[in-house]
Amino acid sequence: MTDLHLKSIAQLSADLADGQYSSEELTRYFLERIGRLDASLNSVVTVAEEQALAAARVADQRIQAGNAGPLTGIPILHKDIFCTQGVKTACGSRMLDNFISPYDATVVTRLKDAGVVMLGKTNMDEFAMGSSNETSFYGPVKNPWDRERVPGGSSGGSAAAVAARLAVAATGTDTGGSIRQPAALCGITGLKPTYGRVSRYGMIAFASSLDQAGPMTRSAEDAAYLLAAMAGFDERDSTSVYRPVDDYVAQLDQDVRGMKIGVVREFFEEGLNSGMRAAMEAAMDKLRELGAELVDLSLPNSHHSVAAYYVVAPAECSSNLSRFDGVRFGHRCDNPVDLEDLYKRSRAEGFGSEVKRRIMIGAYALSAGYYDAYYLKAQQVRQVIADDFREAFGKVDVLLGPASPETAFRLGEKADDPVSMYLSDIYTIAVNLAGLPALSMPAPLVDGLPAGLQLIGNYFEEGRILNLAHRLQLASDWHLQMPEGY
Ligand code: GLN
Repeated sequence: MTDLHLKSIAQLSADLADGQYSSEELTRYFLERIGRLDASLNSVVTVAEEQALAAARVADQRIQAGNAGPLTGIPILHKDIFCTQGVKTACGSRMLDNFISPYDATVVTRLKDAGVVMLGKTNMDEFAMGSSNETSFYGPVKNPWDRERVPGGSSGGSAAAVAARLAVAATGTDTGGSIRQPAALCGITGLKPTYGRVSRYGMIAFASSLDQAGPMTRSAEDAAYLLAAMAGFDERDSTSVYRPVDDYVAQLDQDVRGMKIGVVREFFEEGLNSGMRAAMEAAMDKLRELGAELVDLSLPNSHHSVAAYYVVAPAECSSNLSRFDGVRFGHRCDNPVDLEDLYKRSRAEGFGSEVKRRIMIGAYALSAGYYDAYYLKAQQVRQVIADDFREAFGKVDVLLGPASPETAFRLGEKADDPVSMYLSDIYTIAVNLAGLPALSMPAPLVDGLPAGLQLIGNYFEEGRILNLAHRLQLASDWHLQMPEGY
């Protein structure tokens, strides 16, 4: 029982079916890795050992009874934004440091039903606001490739944990890039599905028209297994889409010869670091070898995406976070003198400074007299950006570019400069504004650090981008490279 952390979901599942080891043994193996290695990373905020072992025993019975699926008995971690019954859900915030959810998010339920074992919860930026994991109440996460650098955010704990092989896979959420950017900076594969493909029920809301959950894994193949279980209509989420789920695993091996890939011109302009450009070019050469046809393509309005996002996302967050008032759940200040004092001090103490900044921007943008100038205008820009994509997908099957303009930056480097932090998502945000699916996968390393190749699909074409990523991973070993010491 060595090197189990190097195996894919399909390999582990075959071994479990074969009786080579039990899910309980596999679960103990990963719990031991978390205990031994995570002190250097701070990627896991809650270890749910007892629940994990109990779930593993149930999985073992299911395997023995012959009614296991491909995920039965596989140990994963959940981002701490997903409500988990009986296990603390803090969303990176002091506000929810005392919150134990009475119910499971739909993503958690679906994965449980598939037999997945939850090892615990991963660290994240507070309420998923950030690109470096430095806004967490639980302290920053370190990048396993270089512990002086950030793992990206907001799903930085999930990305670091998967990169260090502390779990087979993890869940994440992506509002403006929070699955793809940390996946890029930590050298793993992360997929943001089409808006509405995965239920948002029980996923603590940041910006409801943008938030979407997805898998963070070592390979596109593993991501296909996870997404197959996570996706699907949920009557508890009015924005989830009533549409059958494709067979992502069956689509993985399709031939990609003749696939038309648009190289997004605006993603290769100034601002893109030269090493990153070279890594993208190596990946593009590999795609040509596989028979794909690469064409130059423009998304002329993508320049406006960060500006539009930083009106829409704060506006929605100021509304969503109004429920944290110290009355029903969450942090409550000591000895309030009256109701207003209770609201004010509970919120002042419970939220960190980035969250407060967003609430203030959002409340301002939504206020009477400014609504038309900001929120309405941003929604119009959003439509124009979506129209650019619609036109692009009339000409090509998939769009390509980097997921992030640079490799992992140093801890503290952008902490005092919110605008430069916001620009970390310059290549990911347009996809959220349009509601499209996209993934980031490892390209060749740049100066010893991971670089993320982004593949963007048309609506509900998760299967196609997973297929392309899988073919690329069969023909390369970029996704197999690992940080030293893990
Ligand atoms: N970094 C972006 C932000 O801070 C995106 C975060 C996310 O996708 N949750 O809003």
